[in-house]
Amino acid sequence: MWSERGNSRGQVVIISGPSGCGKTTICQELVKDPRVRKSISVTTRPRRPQEKEGRDYYFVTEEEFERKRKEGKFAEYARYSGHLYGTLLEPLERALEQDMVYLLEIDVQGARQIMERFPQALSIFILPPEEGVLKRRLLGRGTDLGKGLATRVEIAKEELSHASRYRYRVVNDRLERAVEEIRIILGLDQKEHR
Ligand code: 5GP
Repeated sequence: MWSERGNSRGQVVIISGPSGCGKTTICQELVKDPRVRKSISVTTRPRRPQEKEGRDYYFVTEEEFERKRKEGKFAEYARYSGHLYGTLLEPLERALEQDMVYLLEIDVQGARQIMERFPQALSIFILPPEEGVLKRRLLGRGTDLGKGLATRVEIAKEELSHASRYRYRVVNDRLERAVEEIRIILGLDQKEHR
């Protein structure tokens, strides 16, 4: 896949998928490889208890987000489930200059913007094994009950309809298998540095 980088040394990789499909866990596995790094997004969503500022997201107010947006700090941004999310441009550009894989775990709206702005970006859509599993995983999360869950299931269904726009589709039926498949797609299976 290295030939698809265009003029840059680094490879930007978009990872999308419906809420609850396991893409965060997949990314956590992928970054265990020293050649892989994940972009940390800026969001106006409230922090979940297990999340850490600067590790999972940069948590900001709507005003701060808007200021950054006006300053051109975002490579893409989108509103998802009522909150704003954005990918910072500067670290992405720095990653492109280095020999590394830079993961963007972003929604379908953001993915479309990145595909236009960085056509060399590789795109992977994670598919849940089936909708029932998706719903159970969302319920199991326990943070988005009630209206939040219904909204997220609706968004998830809508998101699934975008899967065909992505270069690769990976079914997350078993975590290790999905991770291995992505490592092969990214050419990471060849020379292991660990
Ligand atoms: P969550 O609130 O569950 O962490 O994320 C909700 C959705 O926003 C997920 O689909 C996630 O991939 C997406 N997301 C996270 N960061 C960004 C970002 O910087 N830009 C866009 N467009 N979507 C993002």
